Amino acid sequence: MFAKMDRIILHVDLDAFYASVEELRRPDIRGKPAVVCVYSGRTQDSGAVATSNYLARELGIRAGMPIAFAKRAAKGKDVVFLPVDMEHYREVSERIMDLLEEHADRFQQVSIDEAYLDVSDRCTGNYQCAEKMARDIKEEIKEHEGITCSVGIGPSKYVSKMAGKKRKPDGLTVVRPEEVVDFLRNLPVGKLHGIGAKTEEELNSLGIKTAADIPAYGLPGLEKEFGKNKASLLRDKALGIDDSPVEQKDKQQLSRIATLKEDTTDADIIYKKISDLCSDLNKKLQNKIAFRTISLITIDTHLQTQTRSETIPEADDACSVLPSYRTLIDRFLSENPGKMLRRVGIRVSGLSFKDAKGKKEQKRLFDY
Ligand SMILES: [Mg+2]
Repeated sequence: MFAKMDRIILHVDLDAFYASVEELRRPDIRGKPAVVCVYSGRTQDSGAVATSNYLARELGIRAGMPIAFAKRAAKGKDVVFLPVDMEHYREVSERIMDLLEEHADRFQQVSIDEAYLDVSDRCTGNYQCAEKMARDIKEEIKEHEGITCSVGIGPSKYVSKMAGKKRKPDGLTVVRPEEVVDFLRNLPVGKLHGIGAKTEEELNSLGIKTAADIPAYGLPGLEKEFGKNKASLLRDKALGIDDSPVEQKDKQQLSRIATLKEDTTDADIIYKKISDLCSDLNKKLQNKIAFRTISLITIDTHLQTQTRSETIPEADDACSVLPSYRTLIDRFLSENPGKMLRRVGIRVSGLSFKDAKGKKEQKRLFDY
């Protein structure tokens, strides 16, 4: 029998992601509190805050807050309010996720700015190796994309996520298997990932304030209050027990974006660039990935992004759908007369994956 190797999971969270990306492309807002908003469009200030940078957080402006509240908190101060540009954030995120995936044995993206990397095999259970890798990853993201991230390292997804929360922004926190219980013990129960406000209140009313208080209360007592399943879940959270695997998933979409040589309204120049991007994307598709939807992405000189999509008969060659792209380009230009474009891109989605014999696979299996 071999001794069981320690699992090592990295949790990577991009710091104040939307705001960081905006600061990067709009140098004028650097050093100022910035708030990225989803405007619902009903009135000028209706909608909610999507992300605020750390300076805006110091003013109490947080994600989820109504824009009108945020404006009140910002009163008299030089706070920048910006609309979300998801297409742009997705583009940056995709590049970072590709970079992260290269470092993992198994990789799971959980949101636009968060991912788990299982590095147990490549680090053969050695935490020093994982820490070095985390530093390299942070440096690479900083160098290539100019933004910072916070990394937590631990023996499970749950512990790595908790570790990552400890130091932000630009943090790196390692919790080794033997440190897990001590790391969690003094945390208020409401800080444990997955324990919501209602459960926190119930626990507090039983005199359970910290993680250590949970096992101290005893499983039978917890079962009486919460039922069997939830009681053991609470105990696992307090002790940092989590066996859930990092689940490798196939991509939902693939895209390529590029900057035009000069700003243009010329359909032929745009078409030529799109055709280059299709050839480039084909290297990735390798006739093994088919798609059902194509999108044209346009970014104008005011950094406004628009996307136009079309559903097509399934194809696995990006160049074969160039006529459809031509139609999308012409439609965009006729609907936006005189709009100068700076960058253009393509995206394919509704993906399906084929095996070596060209047969379609329902779902690719990564976990053996
Ligand atoms: Mg984040």
